[in-house]
Amino acid sequence: MATDVKTTCPYCGVGCGVIASVADDGVVTVRGDPEHPANFGRLCSKGSALAETIDLDGRGLFPEIGGQRASWDAALDLVAQKFSKAIAEYGPDSVAFYVSGQLLTEDYYIANKLMKGFIGSANVDTNSRLCMSSSVTGHRRAFGSDTVPGAYEDLELADLVILTGSNLAWCHPVIYQRLGAAKAARPSMKIVVIDPRRTMTCDIADLHLAIRPDGDVALFMGLLAHLAASSAIDQNYIAAHTQGFAEAFATASALSLIDLMERTGLPSMQIREFFRLFETTKKVVTCYSQGVNQSSSGTDKVNAIINCHLATGRIGRPGMGPFSLTGQPNAMGGREVGGLANMLAAHMAIESAEDRDRVQRFWVSPTIASKPGLKAVDMFRAVADGRIKALWIMATNPAVSMPDADAVEAAIKACPFVVVSDILRETDTARHAHVLLPSLGWGEKDGTVTNSERRISRQRPFLPTPGEAKADWWQVAEVGRRMGFAGFDFHSPADIFAEHAALSAFENDGGRDFDIGAYVGIDRPAYDAIAPFQWPRSAGMKPGVTRFFADGGFYHSDRIARFIAVQAPATSRTNEQYSLTLNTGRIRDHWHTMTRTGKSARLSSHIAEPFAEMHPADAMELGIRDADLVELESPYGKAVVRTLVTERQARGNIFVPMHWNDQFAAKARIDALVAPVTDPFSGQPASKNVAIAVRPF
Ligand code: SF4
Repeated sequence: MATDVKTTCPYCGVGCGVIASVADDGVVTVRGDPEHPANFGRLCSKGSALAETIDLDGRGLFPEIGGQRASWDAALDLVAQKFSKAIAEYGPDSVAFYVSGQLLTEDYYIANKLMKGFIGSANVDTNSRLCMSSSVTGHRRAFGSDTVPGAYEDLELADLVILTGSNLAWCHPVIYQRLGAAKAARPSMKIVVIDPRRTMTCDIADLHLAIRPDGDVALFMGLLAHLAASSAIDQNYIAAHTQGFAEAFATASALSLIDLMERTGLPSMQIREFFRLFETTKKVVTCYSQGVNQSSSGTDKVNAIINCHLATGRIGRPGMGPFSLTGQPNAMGGREVGGLANMLAAHMAIESAEDRDRVQRFWVSPTIASKPGLKAVDMFRAVADGRIKALWIMATNPAVSMPDADAVEAAIKACPFVVVSDILRETDTARHAHVLLPSLGWGEKDGTVTNSERRISRQRPFLPTPGEAKADWWQVAEVGRRMGFAGFDFHSPADIFAEHAALSAFENDGGRDFDIGAYVGIDRPAYDAIAPFQWPRSAGMKPGVTRFFADGGFYHSDRIARFIAVQAPATSRTNEQYSLTLNTGRIRDHWHTMTRTGKSARLSSHIAEPFAEMHPADAMELGIRDADLVELESPYGKAVVRTLVTERQARGNIFVPMHWNDQFAAKARIDALVAPVTDPFSGQPASKNVAIAVRPF
């Protein structure tokens, strides 16, 4: 008789509920959880193949020091001693944690608490910086808080869904399935896809705008100016709940239609049609993902979109609102506990002395970080130039996934002391670890994650612990204790979640959005039984779909939202030597650096090798045929992949997937080519607009 365990998929930010069935002989099968409100039983190819990725091949089974097996005591003592020594000699900012949207909220909470409240630095950043930090910054600028106003069902309730910088079909497949089903049931619903590539998502689109890379700010500025000249503006909402409209409008209206055509690369007819659809449709949801976030103007893109929703009052109501689609399974949970170098726990602000004091009093901690820490790209620069003496990397593979990946790998290799916590023994990053700590993986670990619609779900264990692997939260708490700090005496993730809930409600009179006070004091049985719920869930609040801002109530101190007078950037980075624009992204069946999905032959059969998608005219000009090998080069690195010549790709653009590393395909680490150029507000790298040269190999 099989045992069923309800858990959550560990891949994308949709956060689908999964039922794992463990048969008497130990064989695991997975199926979608029909009761989970994110997916109602659906799964995509990656979720369906989860059982094929849980073998122990390549797993780290015991701690290692210098490549030799060690005891947990020896490894943790060494980590505590090296971090303490670096702090004593060079100060708290000489150490750093680089963590991950793959961590559970409880892991994230402890890492953030140790670094910000006890070490006294804010040098804790995450691969979520590469995923959605522009959305965080855009939300905070507009709303005064990092709040996603709506819920997934809004996409189904809308009459117009705009997907900008999102290949929903491949990157958030279950939301794509839900949207496709809603459109099939109600064909009058319109879908607009804004993307330089004609992706599979366009199969359900009524209008595809093949925009120039980074043309989105101009497009949404043009839309704001158009709305202001039409009857779609909600003057009452603007007057009651916002400020800054006049400045944003003045900047937006300075762009002529010719300017818009030039910056977006779109014909006037398409621009006008898009504007007309938005103007005449009340129920509009605008979804944005990495094509918006991963940009040197990512934060301005987010605010340009939000400006249009604020101007029309189309926010926080069923079927209306801006909607950030998060890439990773727990980027949202990380944000909630302050897992970014420029945030405090429970959505409090590191810039606020009052918030810093509140968190310090709650933690009864000896110190509190007084300024933002190093964001991902700057953190690895500091590793490279020797400012960081001790680095702890958890659940991520920056030697493959960071921009300028070769330089990042060299920096890690040269760092005086590197700890890597991972489920695998040999990743491109783990091979440079002085101390390797084996972590629990999906199916073994226990905690919570938050998906893109603010829904907190449990990941539950159903597999035996492999070897001596331990939870990430336990590793960090042990090191905290061994560094001599009180405040790390946790016995289970339930203890941590209870503290996290208590902090969210601590001195929170409604002035902070993140509040899960209903879970203050939760015990282990109640924690084990948590059903997926959307926050806020303050004390006494009943479960249900929650939305923000329909009637204002923003989180700036005056409770008023801000229009942001964004600037339309120059869109091209190319020059004579590097004349094509590289755009990196995901494919349907692989996840990140393939350390898990690479184990499934079924998943690899969809697309078996990395590729460079290019337009036939570009291929002809370069003397390249379909399936030829080509060398791609930027000032930062090179890669060799096979071409895929297709008219889905816009002229002048090359798409290459981000997943492959040296383990799976030599010379295909595409992030080695990505320039370490970042958004000035969020610090998010611009992985969608990189100047490269392409030549036959
Ligand atoms: Fe997992 Fe995302 Fe697929 Fe859902 S859509 S099954 S969360 S990868």
